[in-house]
Amino acid sequence: MKDVLPAPLKKLAAACPLPLYAVGGSVRDFLLGYPVGDKTDWDISSPMREEELIAAASACGFTVRALYRHTGTVKLEDGEGRGYEFTRFRSDRYVRGEHTPAEIFFTDDMTLDARRRDFCANAVYYDVAGEAFADPLGGMEDIRNKTLRTVREAEKVFGEDGLRLMRLARISAETGLRPDGECLAGAKRNAALIADIAPERIFTELKLLLLADQKHGDGEAPLCGLDILRDTGVLGHTMPELALGDGMEQNNPYHAHDVLTHSFLCVRHAPPEIRFAALLHDVGKPYCMLRDGNFHAHAPVGARIAEAILSRLKAPKKLIAETVFLVANHMRDYNCEMRTNKVRREILRIGPALPALFALKQADFTACKGDLSPAPTVVKWQNILDKMREEGVPFTLRELAVNGRDLKAAGVPERKTASILHELLLFCSEDGSRNEKSLLLRHAANMMKSGS
Ligand code: ATP
Ligand code: MG
Repeated sequence: MKDVLPAPLKKLAAACPLPLYAVGGSVRDFLLGYPVGDKTDWDISSPMREEELIAAASACGFTVRALYRHTGTVKLEDGEGRGYEFTRFRSDRYVRGEHTPAEIFFTDDMTLDARRRDFCANAVYYDVAGEAFADPLGGMEDIRNKTLRTVREAEKVFGEDGLRLMRLARISAETGLRPDGECLAGAKRNAALIADIAPERIFTELKLLLLADQKHGDGEAPLCGLDILRDTGVLGHTMPELALGDGMEQNNPYHAHDVLTHSFLCVRHAPPEIRFAALLHDVGKPYCMLRDGNFHAHAPVGARIAEAILSRLKAPKKLIAETVFLVANHMRDYNCEMRTNKVRREILRIGPALPALFALKQADFTACKGDLSPAPTVVKWQNILDKMREEGVPFTLRELAVNGRDLKAAGVPERKTASILHELLLFCSEDGSRNEKSLLLRHAANMMKSGS
């Protein structure tokens, strides 16, 4: 481990009056054989008081970014810009379910500190100056066995802090460690406690889970995390609309899976940027099935439900807007029956969101039956798009051969310019050679005459 520790951390440990330990994700990931280095978030710990740590850190050229006396936490940055979170050895007492401990006792007993954590694999310490591991709860053995075990009775660990339910799914997804039976059972019994956790925190964990494959390159990682959310019941408490698809059969030749499994597989096949849209693309199906007995209107209905879910989770507004748009449009021309001119207009309407929509359509197609071949709609639309580019079709008003001033000079009243420019863009979408000034002005004049 000593070879992967940053030099400033070693210097700091040598300057501390008591042993300073690396703990948590960095030690766990190192023992799992994953790269530990520049992107690592360094969690460090010691029985030392915050003042002692701060004095040593300042002498070693670190900057103190924050100090939380109540929890004995100090955020530090070394001279090379690396961040560290120091927590003094402590034991916590919780009010059921809430993430913030009600009482904190500082201690010099490492085992007590380990027992206030979540999983044994997250409670392996590395003495930075002494160059030795300390493993009070057998976390190294768990890591060898690829297991997540709680630091105390699972019932208690999850009962104290509902955020651990999300951490279980996310850390399992990122690391490949799998919960043992007791851990899973404890999480199941306490799944409802997720309701006590701030939506922003749930969202942050969910996002990390959906991107878990980006951490260590395991393509199945998000799927594994989603399975845990479903199996523990946490999904039903955080996104009940989505959980309704669990076991809902689709009874048609295109689908091999129930609605929820299909949604999870769509995440599996989607690029990172559209994972929320992949997860929620069919969220309208259970609602439509229960209301209408079919899935017909599931895209627009799903868009509204996706908006409600993401707003509830306090997701960023931009992500909500992008996701809602993709969910609303994911069925466009699903059966490849749309006429070419209509597709051309749709391509203009969708504009910059087109690559994301293609990616979602492809992931949706692949997730139906595991077919990795190109999705027919994407092939058809891509060919039409290529042809439009070849013809020089304008995709934005700026690329149009006339502008507002030209229309004004031709006698178009100002209140009509925006709608006429838009109409001209659609007119050109059918044939790029129409993007020529005199032709467009003539077309505009005809539109005025016919009163459009
Ligand atoms: P990552 O690789 O994402 O940093 P991590 O396990 O280091 O994973 P952190 O949030 O950095 O996660 O937390 C550091 C350590 O603090 C954890 O390994 C765990 O021992 C402990 N910890 C963090 N959050 C909790 C919690 N909610 N309950 C109990 N222990 C926690
Ligand atoms: Mg960490």
